[in-house]
Amino acid sequence: MVEWLNINYRYVSVPVDCRYAKARKEVPDMDQIKIGKFIASCRKEQGMTQAVLAGKLGISDRAVSKWETGKSLPDSGIMLKLCELLGISVNELLSGERIMAEIYDKRAEENLLAMKKEVEEKNRQMLKTEYMIALPAVIAGLVMVLVAALVEMPVWLRIVLIAFALVMILIVAFVAVRIEQKAGYYECQHCHHRQVPTYWQTNLAMHIGRTRYMRCPECGKYSWQKKVLTKED
Ligand SMILES: [Zn+2]
Repeated sequence: MVEWLNINYRYVSVPVDCRYAKARKEVPDMDQIKIGKFIASCRKEQGMTQAVLAGKLGISDRAVSKWETGKSLPDSGIMLKLCELLGISVNELLSGERIMAEIYDKRAEENLLAMKKEVEEKNRQMLKTEYMIALPAVIAGLVMVLVAALVEMPVWLRIVLIAFALVMILIVAFVAVRIEQKAGYYECQHCHHRQVPTYWQTNLAMHIGRTRYMRCPECGKYSWQKKVLTKED
């Protein structure tokens, strides 16, 4: 009886809805049909014929047939016994499917995966932005320096041009490192711990592209830490 009392409201409402739908003759009794099919499949799993199940419940096999075709629902008086014979819970019977922890786990897993993908995509976009800002700035800066060095012009103009190019590259570099630091993680080569270093740790670290020589906060060792998009694989 305890199990009966523990039924989730969602499932309790199923037979009520069916009756309601029937009375209004608008929607087919989908849930009842689902429950019927579920009863049939569980019965077969248990290796019972309709007659055998009916015998064990002390009812006619016509009643079992009516459940299985969705024409009626087993009444609450024999539901517990029926569920016991079918190896399912009342909750499962009324929802017309097995409710397993795995379903919830799977759903949670899917949500987690979607969230991870979103974060990954956001980080990828940020790193793309880093290139889109840094690359033109570096090229423009280099062109300015080359022009200043090669083209005939007054000395003050050369100085202004070079100074402008350097300041621009510097500012863009700071912005780019900011983006890089915030997008994703750096992975330690020793213990594979993934970290987000502070801005200055990132900025002051020696680097080749986005691979930076930094100390791992986990194992304390220095290594060339690679940029990764997610906290875990
Ligand atoms: Zn480490």
